[in-house]
Amino acid sequence: MKLTPRATEALDELLEGNRRFREGEPKGYKYSQDQIRTISKNQTPLAGIIACADSRVSPELVFDQPLGSIFASRVPANVASDSAKWMLDIAVNEFRVPLVMVMGHTGCLAVGQLLDGDKGGAGGLHRFSVLSAVYRAKAKHPTNLYRQAVEENVLQTVEHLARDSYSLRAALIDGTTSIVGSVYDMESGEVVILDSTLEVYGRF
Ligand SMILES: [Zn+2]
Repeated sequence: MKLTPRATEALDELLEGNRRFREGEPKGYKYSQDQIRTISKNQTPLAGIIACADSRVSPELVFDQPLGSIFASRVPANVASDSAKWMLDIAVNEFRVPLVMVMGHTGCLAVGQLLDGDKGGAGGLHRFSVLSAVYRAKAKHPTNLYRQAVEENVLQTVEHLARDSYSLRAALIDGTTSIVGSVYDMESGEVVILDSTLEVYGRF
């Protein structure tokens, strides 16, 4: 299934911002006290984004977006956490965001830990979730297992959110929002859309 026209518009805006970011031409948003006050009264975010907690993958910066444009949830390895689902409930029900994005990234420490067989640490079931993505990647016998694990983990989060978030599923069926997965390449600064994540639509 394709993205809705509103989702395509939102995605284009994000990707154009990403182009500005990586070409060193960010808009350099500045806010006067009046503007801050105005922003505090309302918001119309163009996307709900689930991203990793990594300090180098801030969605507002890599998409060069101002305050008020991105509703976000950030958690290690961008898993479908309870807080990510809560974020989606608000973004979809209250603000009718036209686009939901799950953004993984290269160099993800959390994915790397599971790939290396790390069994310790916090995270509980979310760690098993990432481990599941690692197994999915291994089953494909890719030339670059780490990259494949990052992509499988994004795809898996898209599947989990579409399955477990009633608000998101209803909005996907209604066509009021679309969901897409992406990978942020930390070395080039480019966000690449994963076409495989669009196929999740067909299951609803
Ligand atoms: Zn990460």
